[in-house]
Amino acid sequence: MTARVLVVDDIAANLRLLEAKLLAEYYEVGVAASGEEALAAVRDWLPDVVLLDVMMPGMDGYEVCRRLKAQSATAHIPVVMVTALTDQAERVRGLEAGADDFLSKPVDDATLFARLRALLRVKQVMDAWRLRAETARDLGVEPEDDPSPDLTGACALVVDPEASGAAALAAVLSLDGLMVTSCADPASAWDALQTGEQDVVLLSLSLGGPDALRLASRLRAEATTRDIPLLLVGDAAQKGLVLRGFDLGANDHVLRPVDPNELRARVRNQIRRKRYQERLRADLDRSLEMAVTDPLTGLRNRRYVRRHLEGVLRTSGAAVLVLDVDRFKAVNDTHGHAAGDAVLKEVADRVRANIRASDVVARYGGEEFLVVMSATGQEEAVIVGERLRGAIAGTPVEAGSDRLSITASVGVAAAEAGASVEALVAAADSALYRAKNAGRNRVEAAAGVEAPARR
Ligand code: GH3
Ligand code: MG
Ligand code: MG
Repeated sequence: MTARVLVVDDIAANLRLLEAKLLAEYYEVGVAASGEEALAAVRDWLPDVVLLDVMMPGMDGYEVCRRLKAQSATAHIPVVMVTALTDQAERVRGLEAGADDFLSKPVDDATLFARLRALLRVKQVMDAWRLRAETARDLGVEPEDDPSPDLTGACALVVDPEASGAAALAAVLSLDGLMVTSCADPASAWDALQTGEQDVVLLSLSLGGPDALRLASRLRAEATTRDIPLLLVGDAAQKGLVLRGFDLGANDHVLRPVDPNELRARVRNQIRRKRYQERLRADLDRSLEMAVTDPLTGLRNRRYVRRHLEGVLRTSGAAVLVLDVDRFKAVNDTHGHAAGDAVLKEVADRVRANIRASDVVARYGGEEFLVVMSATGQEEAVIVGERLRGAIAGTPVEAGSDRLSITASVGVAAAEAGASVEALVAAADSALYRAKNAGRNRVEAAAGVEAPARR
């Protein structure tokens, strides 16, 4: 996986050393010698990950990290602090500035590359979501609010065969208001994951290497658990397992003895990322919804219903109703366009209220609606058409201060599986034409539409 890595350090020798290591692994490398240069390089070059020295004259690494994480254009770029400091408080300070991880100088190659691969994998997924959410925004979808930074009520699953270890982790997490479930073995952990509620999983390597790694890879393999952040908990002697865990999809790790503040900061960062990803996904869902919805009535649009009908006719027969408001132009002319819109909305509501949930109704044109009923014959469809006609003509429509008598005409047609959308809709259209000519406020049915002969 090739990616752009920005290395930031005020000491030229450190820059060259890391640059050489990364180039040898075929990464694209950019360098910056100060905090200010780093911010400019991130803005102009958009790296996939930043390796950031902590101690620099002028703007230090913490401040650079805070600024990157505070801006929506750069907040998703993973930041790894590279530091000679081994002081625990300093590590926590970096995590609280939003850093995704820490590496100690001198940097251990295996750890560096395992971390980079893990961070880049998450970023690739996020980039895909971001791109699609951007498209959604271009289409006019209002983004949801930023996710809440408060973790109260978030759910964590602790998987640890040792009760005392699990209890210690749970006690730390509860400081941030997390609801913790503990499981002692992979099978019960898997069951607990099926609720879909977990926001983060803490997996103890005391489970034994094969069991822990199998659970990690299973988490990543299944669509329902793929996006749940996974944190490994191990001791210094388990470094090899931790690195394999990263390659199998773990997002982060803490070493025993666990520093409570470090654990909290790492869990917080993971849950925030998950929430951010969920928000992007929600934006996307809404854009898809918008793409198939008529904005005035909230009904499906023409494009959607044609596709739907096409799909239905592949496997079953179907009936369609074309319903057209009578003398609607006169409503606009006499009462104004806003009154016309109110009538369309009310007609849409009445149609929706008088069909089955499995039927699809769309706004097919200006004041024309199309109802698709799968596996429905013409006689049954005529009864539905009559019900819709009655629901519209039976009660006047309120439009502002006016009460308007509205009627609609309906054309009905049905066809067997394999019929064409064009033929079926055209048949319903000509039935509608006859209903209009026969005086309006009527239902007319077409002669049956034949399925094409099958060879
Ligand atoms: P008929 O009984 O033969 O169907 O007559 P009609 O007046 O309903 O049919 P015609 O097709 O002549 O007029 C349809 C009108 O619907 C014309 C158009 O301005 C109006 N219209 C189309 N879309 C909208 C809309 O979104 N809002 C409003 N208020 N009017 C619309
Ligand atoms: Mg009309
Ligand atoms: Mg019309």
